[in-house]
This record gives sequence, C-alpha cells and structure tokens, in this order.
Amino acid sequence: MEDERSANCRKAAFGWLQEQALRGDETFSRDLLAHGFPYDGGHVKLVGPQGIFKPNQIQYFPLSITTTTKGPYTDSFDPSGNYLLYSYRGTDPDHHENRRLRDAMQERIPLIYFYGTVPGQYLAIYPVFIVGDDPGKLMFTVAADDVMQLRYERDDTDDTVRRQYVTRLVRQRMHQRSFRDRVLRAYRTQCSICHLKHADLLDAAHITPDSDDRGEPVVSNGLSLCKIHHAAFDRNYFGIKPDYRIVVRPAIMQENDGPMLKAGLQSINDAKLIVPRSAKERPDPERLRTRYELFADKALS
Ligand SMILES: [Zn+2]
Repeated sequence: MEDERSANCRKAAFGWLQEQALRGDETFSRDLLAHGFPYDGGHVKLVGPQGIFKPNQIQYFPLSITTTTKGPYTDSFDPSGNYLLYSYRGTDPDHHENRRLRDAMQERIPLIYFYGTVPGQYLAIYPVFIVGDDPGKLMFTVAADDVMQLRYERDDTDDTVRRQYVTRLVRQRMHQRSFRDRVLRAYRTQCSICHLKHADLLDAAHITPDSDDRGEPVVSNGLSLCKIHHAAFDRNYFGIKPDYRIVVRPAIMQENDGPMLKAGLQSINDAKLIVPRSAKERPDPERLRTRYELFADKALS
C-alpha cells in the first residue's frame, strides 16, 4: 500500500496529464516534464536525470519510467505484441531503483511511461503497471491499462486480457507518434509543398502506404504535409517525381475557382518539394517512382 500523501500526489499527476490530453497535448518536452506541474504550493517533477523516477513529494514507489531515443526503438516492445519492455537501471537487479520498481509490481502501483519519440520529446502513456520481471535479461515487462481503471477501487478480477488489448493499441500509438515526430522534425515542422508551419495542421504522410509490407515508418518513407496537401496527395490531385518535382493533375490545372485552388494546387505545379537537410532523411526516389507511376496511371492517362 502507498501512504495517502504519496497516493494523492500520484493521482494529481495522472489528473494533470489528462487535462493536457484534453487540450490536445500528447507529447511533452523534457524541459516541461522536468519542471513539472503545480501542486500544493510547489511543483511536482515528472522526470529526473535517471529513467526510473520519483519526485520528492512521493515517499517510496517510482512515479514514472522514461525511455531514451537511443538505439532502435523496437527495444521497448516485446515480441508477443502484448507488452512493453523496460530495461533495468544498470546491471544490478538489486539497485534500489530496480528494487522499488519491483515493489511497485507487487503493490500494483500505477505508473507513467514516458516514451521518447525524438530527442527531447516524450509521449505519455498511463497508467502502466509492471507485470513481469526478468533478472536474466535485466528487463521489466510493462502493461498499459485504461485510464478508467484509476477511478475504481481495486478488485481481484483478472486484468490480463484488457491490459493486453490496451497495450496493443498503445503500441500502435507509440509507432504512429514516433513516425510523425521524426518526420516533422526532419522537415523543420513545415509542409514540404507549401511551407505552412503550424504543427496542428501538419501530418506525416507515407509515400509507400503503411498497409503495404514495404511501408516502413522510416523518415525516407515520409513526407511532412499540411492537411490539404496530404489529402490531395492521397487522392492523386498531384504526384511527386523521383527528382522531387510536383506534377498537378491536368484536370485540376484547367479548373477556374478561388484563391485556395490557385495558391494551394495550381501554383505548385512544377514546383520543387522542400526536403530535409540530411540526405538520408530525404524522400526515397525509388518509393517516389513507384508512387508516381500509380498517380500517372490514374491522373495522366
Ligand atoms: Zn501544404
């Protein structure tokens, strides 16, 4: 059991995250999390220098676990698809932080998992529970659960099936969010067609669709597009040649209408795509070629 003061502070942390989610904020900068949220005349920090973290206002059990973006991001996912993984602090299973996380498993304490999508940016997943411990691999197994579960008194029903379902959904969100954040960062948060710089109005579009086996969520398979240009690209209003030239569908070029058509679609014909500075993050010409052939089939014949 957790003492009441600590439990209340923990509850406030979940409440604060839910408030942010209602405002549409799903990811947080490291600075914001390190500064924390206002509580009881002070601030409660949500992350610290180490991955397993407990603020001063909480007595014993950790409040959050945080991943870094180092290494392939599949590190956080267990192969069954039903759980997340979290590496021990260091290699000593008995290190006090590992021990406290293990104790949180015994006491079924709800935690927050901050998943690094790009350096300095984190997706908040909560509540999560530690459900397994593997000292051989120096890994904890983590399950995500429904926020509704925070409201009820705990009973002894088996949570396994619901948690596996929620964790599968969370994993999809982690992949999508990480793709989006990496693509937008590579394009310096602007539409690669029209420069629009409002993140709220930008999507990370796939060149090879993610329904395709080859549609991996790598930046070179992505394009940062505003909502209009994303929808227009997916519906073949324009195509992009492997040399990054934009070709607008001839039927669109012949239309007569207001400023949106003119500036948004007709004027981009034969313009060049804005691409990331780093060569390896630029759109893969082979993927563009395949996609352009589909466009030419539908729009140019
Ligand atoms: Zn645009």
